[in-house]
Amino acid sequence: MTAAGTLPRPGETVEMIRAASPITVVDRLGEGGQGVVYRARLDGGPTLALKWYRPTTASPQQRQAIADLVTRGTPHGCFSWPLDLVRSANVDGWGYVMPLISPEFAPFAQLLNDDVQPSFRVMASIGRQLAEAIACLHASGLCYRDLNSQNVYVDRERGAVAICDNDNVGTDRGYVAVYGTLLYMAPEVVRRETTPTTVTDLHSLAVLLFKLLMRGHPLEGRRVDALYSWNGRNHASDEEIAVQYCGYEPLFVFDPADDANRPVDGDPMLRMWPLYPGFVVHAFTQAFTRGLHDPSLGVRVTAQTWRKLFVRLGDGCFRCPACSANRIYDAEEPDKACWSCGRRTALPLALELPSHTVVLDRDAVLTPGHLHRNRDWSTNWARVESHPQESGRVVLRNLGDAVWKVHADGEEPKVVRPAQAFAVRPGIINFGVAQGRVRTLP
Ligand SMILES: [Zn+2]
Repeated sequence: MTAAGTLPRPGETVEMIRAASPITVVDRLGEGGQGVVYRARLDGGPTLALKWYRPTTASPQQRQAIADLVTRGTPHGCFSWPLDLVRSANVDGWGYVMPLISPEFAPFAQLLNDDVQPSFRVMASIGRQLAEAIACLHASGLCYRDLNSQNVYVDRERGAVAICDNDNVGTDRGYVAVYGTLLYMAPEVVRRETTPTTVTDLHSLAVLLFKLLMRGHPLEGRRVDALYSWNGRNHASDEEIAVQYCGYEPLFVFDPADDANRPVDGDPMLRMWPLYPGFVVHAFTQAFTRGLHDPSLGVRVTAQTWRKLFVRLGDGCFRCPACSANRIYDAEEPDKACWSCGRRTALPLALELPSHTVVLDRDAVLTPGHLHRNRDWSTNWARVESHPQESGRVVLRNLGDAVWKVHADGEEPKVVRPAQAFAVRPGIINFGVAQGRVRTLP
């Protein structure tokens, strides 16, 4: 039971402080340790989410921290960022409003439990957006502090990300209300040697990204399994065990120098790990070997580096020409056999750009980030589609507003206007802002 006067009730009107606008509480969406979240409607405006703090957590420092976030504004479109503080004439305390996360999004934790894993292309998109959002947060001088699978939401159809619970965002030296969530916490935070910062966020981000691609926790292998079995006699709590393997003796399941904590038989990580190219394996190995013990920006994998890595991963996705399984091109191992059918087939054509190689298979996209070296990886300037007449072939459709000049090998030059497509074949494409060569992969 909630005591009257400590929380707003559906139908009640509260006030946005900066905007000086009334907002009506619609219904309760959920609650956590810090407060209760409601759906709320702005008069003549959008439906928003309203979080009201419980009296025990509604400290002046927390209120100031949220006020600072409102003033700064969101660093990236993925964040459900505080828009305004809210007060009430009838209820003590305060709350804040933020954009409502639309119903297509589900908690990341749910995606990890789904029987059917998203395609590599969708996972690459989710990883890229998550890394990009955290990179923008860090670039603006802020850290998240409690990144975990409950406060990241994903739309698995579109490969989109939304990040909620931004209450704990602040500067590295600012007010801290949380240590984070144990299984995502950097070892030095588990050991309470530091409070969460930008560099500890990077560990949490690496754990999330690893779980996305490998479907397991990077520190939970045989050695941890044995700790739980031994626990029958030892009476340590699950939390004490997690403190041990996340904080005091963390050992990566694929540590190249120590195989004591390899995944247990039947663990999906054993199946997933070999499917990825060397550059993915290398980044995770760095994050969970040296990165566990050296919490510096030079050693932990930065969000910017993960962002580049996930763009590259997405650019390498294709369907096996023999069996249609989702595969990833690996420039270091170009003749790698298909993980599903075991065949070494001819690979699709690829577009070589000044700083990217994009495999031209159905659903591949070119963004301003590919062609213009800017940071927009979400707008599609071109997309690869199935050839309308010839099975097995693809076309590249111009979705931007520039006219392309295409010079296919051995043919007369032609132009491809906006909305038009051309059948992909070797040659040069001048996109206006950049030039690329379509070629066969080695
Ligand atoms: Zn195959």
